[in-house]
Parts: sequence; structure tokens; C-alpha cells
Amino acid sequence: MSESSGPIAAPAADAGNPLLAAWTTPFETPPFAEIRPEHFMPAFEQAFADHAGEIAAIVNDPTEPDFDNTVTALERSGKLLNRVAAVFYDLVSAHSSPELLKIDEEVSLRMARHWNPIMMNAVLFGRIAALRDKAARLNLTPEQSRLLERSYTRFHRAGAGLDEASKARMAAINERLAQLGTSFSHHLLGDEQEWMMELGEGDTEGLPDSFVAAARAAAEERGLPGKAVVTLSRSSVEPFLKMSSRRDLREKVYRAFIARGDNGNDNDNNAIIGEILSLREESAKLLGYPTFAAYRLEDSMAKTPEAVRGLLERVWKPARARALADRDALQELVTEEGSNFKLAPWDWRYYAEKLRQRRANFDDAAIKPYLTLDGMIAAAFDTATRLFGITFQERKDVPVWHPDVRVWEVKDADGAHRGLFYGDYYARPSKRSGAWMTSLRDQQKLDSAVAPLIINVCNFAKGAGGEPSLLSPDDARTLFHEFGHGLHGMLSDVTYPSLSGTSVFTDFVELPSQLYEHWQEQPQVLRQFARHYQTGEPLPDDLLQRFIAARKFGQGFATVEFVSSALLDLEFHTQPAASIGEVRAFERKELDKIGMPEEIALRHRPTQFGHIFSGDHYASGYYSYMWSEVMDADAFGAFEEAGDIFAPDVAKRLRDDIYSSGGSRDPEEAYVAFRGRKPEPDALLRRRGLLDTPEAA
Ligand SMILES: [Zn+2]
Repeated sequence: MSESSGPIAAPAADAGNPLLAAWTTPFETPPFAEIRPEHFMPAFEQAFADHAGEIAAIVNDPTEPDFDNTVTALERSGKLLNRVAAVFYDLVSAHSSPELLKIDEEVSLRMARHWNPIMMNAVLFGRIAALRDKAARLNLTPEQSRLLERSYTRFHRAGAGLDEASKARMAAINERLAQLGTSFSHHLLGDEQEWMMELGEGDTEGLPDSFVAAARAAAEERGLPGKAVVTLSRSSVEPFLKMSSRRDLREKVYRAFIARGDNGNDNDNNAIIGEILSLREESAKLLGYPTFAAYRLEDSMAKTPEAVRGLLERVWKPARARALADRDALQELVTEEGSNFKLAPWDWRYYAEKLRQRRANFDDAAIKPYLTLDGMIAAAFDTATRLFGITFQERKDVPVWHPDVRVWEVKDADGAHRGLFYGDYYARPSKRSGAWMTSLRDQQKLDSAVAPLIINVCNFAKGAGGEPSLLSPDDARTLFHEFGHGLHGMLSDVTYPSLSGTSVFTDFVELPSQLYEHWQEQPQVLRQFARHYQTGEPLPDDLLQRFIAARKFGQGFATVEFVSSALLDLEFHTQPAASIGEVRAFERKELDKIGMPEEIALRHRPTQFGHIFSGDHYASGYYSYMWSEVMDADAFGAFEEAGDIFAPDVAKRLRDDIYSSGGSRDPEEAYVAFRGRKPEPDALLRRRGLLDTPEAA
């Protein structure tokens, strides 16, 4: 196979491939306008060959292994591959096409075939292991020590220490898992793209103008100008379920949403899940672990499935109690209205919104006109300026992958260039659902300073007819969340690329993002940046107070839908795969076991649970959001205790210990350095307003 046969001279046919040429754009960013789908495979081939050559040079180096000729050499390798892959995956996720999706199937298989022989290379692993044995005598910096330890762990966990037969099986498993993960996400995208519901005359009852405008824009995107459609993106479905007074349509939308990937059509994900689970279990056993969860969690802050279960169960009881009490109140509301149906899952959001309006005298629709996309971007930037001194200046000369994408240059307080920030905020059919942060280039300074290119992608509804895009409170929180991840990438200040920015444990990675959400909800921030899109008036104080008071409302529901998904993820990866059987029946059985309120759906049903099945990043790791939340709730307390949400000394520690240190430190040690102690778990229950329920004690 050519990928392991050493360096190959660049074929002349690749001349003119922008992925292989030097980038002469401002800041040497990808020249998106010149990149076409057919450029990817040849670029990947070249990148695989280059990388394989670099690895072969390390493996065949006749000199004694030392840190530089082994660990640092590995860090230097694969530059072209990183560059091509970053552009490719950005496009596949944020602006795909049938052509790109087809290439993706091939790329995921080729990636697995490329990485398997590297990560299982016995000689390479032997060199790293030898260095690790004498680490104490190598005079390493703390970052180098951490890098050596992480490198060893990565190879060890990939199976580099296995016998040849086990390695061959591992390689086959990895290849198959890569294909299955890709199919899973393509299926999900397929089901999401195929479905829409047209809103005819009389179908818009209860819906605010902003929703209808967004539904028009969505129809236009899909080639139906003049019409209005509800789509299966979360930012279309959730507000519809909350506001439409048409119970029949709510049911229709709800059923379509929870059926994604579970329709028995070509996009059905049930069989894929079964195969993924048994392959993951087999690979964990090859490596000597009883379950995939045990394998996966060993390399995390939580360390064991028991620790994860402990946290989730601690939260589950009070959350469920709160949700059940809320359910009874919602049922009363139904009766009060003169209806006699039993509350169904498609009714929850609608009546919860009514109850919230009554209890907190507040509804999302009232605040939405004050939450413009531009206003919230400005708020996120200003918060970063006040905390970390960085500034943002929009650039129109940087190439982008879609005309809606915006780019800002990020500078340090002293004016030095720090990187670029790309914001791709609007939903469109070519974008997968959800919101995420990624990068086109990571910060590092191994040979020279490399400035990061950081991306945020969201799925906000675009304003129609030139009106600005208005965000729901959830959208605004999402914007801050992803921007928090973005800061983790932008503020990164490490030497080695593999430790850059968000290259941290999965149950630590949500700390910078979730912590940042806290500022979005501060009166100081809202007073300045939440302004009416027509009049420019600031958010009235009375509405602001009610908004803040309403925050804790509905936490029973939100916590139940999250924790149930996290527990299901854990069960999928701890119970023997052979015993799981039919996915739908397993889901039902597990939900019955925890007493899931039948009026609440999982946040992600298995066939649409991309976090755990599109790849393995969050597999038995979905709890991570909550693990990080224990830290973020506790961490924001440091600012509250200082009496200033921008307290400079706390902000400096936050930057030094959390946002800039990437994976260069042990996460618990980094947290304790910031906070002076370990996190205190009750902060999470308090923040969610769940500490005062009877079961919370
Ligand atoms: Zn996140």
C-alpha cells in the first residue's frame, strides 16, 4: 500500500491544485473560491504520502531516540494533511454538496487506513516508551513532559502494544467504524433535508412574525419563494413547538423531529448503531478493558463509569422531581383552558411557555426583538475585550466558503495579531444541524508562531427581506457557548500543535464554552447590547429583571432531557453489546428503568445521537457537558465573589490557567490553579435552581 512506502515525489498533475499550492491570501488562509471538490482526493493522496514519509523517517532513524528526533518530529509531521483535512471537514459540515458527501465516504475510510499503521507502529511506540521510561532524566519543560505522557497514552490506547493479529483486527474495526460513523451522519442529514412542512393560511396561529419571516427565508433557501416552511433544524422545531397553538401541527412536527434516522427508509440508523456498539466493545476488549465505557473514561477527568453515573444520578433525582411537579402544573393549565386531553410530549414546550409567562410574566417573544444577531456578536466580543484585552476588527478581504460567512481579525491588547475568527451563523440546507466550533489552523509556536484560524458555525434563522436576524434566548446562549470554545482556540498559547486550544479531555472541553455563557445573562451586558432592532431602545429594566428571574424556569425539563440522554449513552457503552438487541426496545427499557416522564423526550434519541454515533468523540462522553458544568458554575463564582464580573485579577488567572493552556497541563491541576480549590458540585444544582427540591438533599 502506497501510504506506508515512504516519500513520493509530487505528481506534476497536481500543479494548479489550490490545496497543494502556497496560499497567497491575506493571513495565508484557504482560498475557498478556488477550491473545488475534485481537488480533495489528489490533495489527500499527496498529504497521506508526505505524512507517511515523515513517519518512516522517524521510524528508520538509526540514532538513539531522543525527545527531538521522536516526539518533536512527530509534532512536526502531517502539516499538509492537517491543512487539507481542516478545509475539507469545514466544508462537509458547514457547506456540503452531494459531491462532497460522496468524497467524505472515501476520505473517512482512507483516513482510517492511513492512521492505523501509524498509531499501531511498534517501532514508533517503542521509541516513545523508551523516552517515557527515562523521562525524569530528560530535562523536559512541564509542557514537554505532558506532551510525552500524552503521546505515550495515545499510542498505547490505539493498540500500539498489541500483538500482530490483534492489531490487524483493530485496524479492520477502525476502518469499519469510520465508515459507519460517516454513514450515520449522512443519514441524519438526509432525513433532515428531506422533510419540511409548509405553513398554509391558518397554520401560523400563535407564531410571532419573526418566526414566520424565518420560515419564509427557509422556504426561499429551498427554492420555494413566497412560501413558508418549518424544517427539522432545532432552531425551527423548538420555537414552533413552543409557540404554535395548532396542536395537530405540533404533533406532526414533533413526530418528524424525533423520528430522524428511525424511519425505516434508506436513512435508517438502527442497524448502524448495533454494529457500532459491538465493534466498540470488541476493540475495548482487545485492549484489555471490560467495556467501551471503561476504556473511554480512563482517559478523562471522570476516570470511571461509576464516577459518571454518580454525578448523573445525583442530578437526575431532583431534576425528575421538579419535572414531574411541572408536568402536573402544565396538565392543570390544559384543564383550565377547557381541554380534556392528557399532556403529550408535543404539548410540553407550548404549555411550559404559557406557565412561564404566567409565573415569571415573561415570554421569549417579548425579548427576541432586543436580541439581534449583531448585538449579541458585539456583546460576545466586548466581553472578551473586557476580560482578556483582545479586540476584533471585521475583514472583508479574507476568502470564505459562503457569502454569509464573516471574518474578524483578532488582536491582543498591544495590537499584535492573534488570529482570525470566522462566524458562519445562518441555517441553510447545506449545513448540518447544531452549532460547533472548529479551526482551519491551530495555534502553536514549535518552529515559528502560528496564528489560529477559528470558526464558529450556528444554525440561526436568517431575517427575511433585509430584516436583521433575531435570536431567541437559547440562540444567544449558543452564540456565547460556541464563542467560548472559540476563545479556547484563539487564546491558546502553547508550543506543541497536539496540545493546542481545545485538545483537552472531553469532560473539560465544555468548561471554557459553558463558563462563557454566564456573561450573556448578566444585566451589565444585556443593558448595553440588547437593543430593540427597530427603535434601538435598550432592553427595559423590568423586562430584563423578568428575563433573569425566568432563567431557572424549566430546568427540570432541560435537565431531564439531557441527563436521560447521557445515561442512555452510558448504558449503550457499559452493557454487553450482544444483549442490547433492538435499539428502540433498549431505549424504552432503559427509560422505564429511570422513570423517564413520558411527556418528555430524550434530547437526542439514539438514531439521531450524532454526538455518540457520528464518531467516537462523545461516545460514553455525553455526560461531559454536565461534568464541565460542575466546574463552570463553580468557576463563575470566582467573579461573583470578587464583586465584579470582569475582575481583572480573576480574568488574568482564567486566561493563564484555563483559556490559554490548552492540553499542556493536567486539567484538574489547571482548575485548582485558577480557583484555589476543586469545584464544589452543589454550584450546578444551585445554578439550575434544583437545590431546593425535596430529593436534592
Ligand atoms: Zn460545546
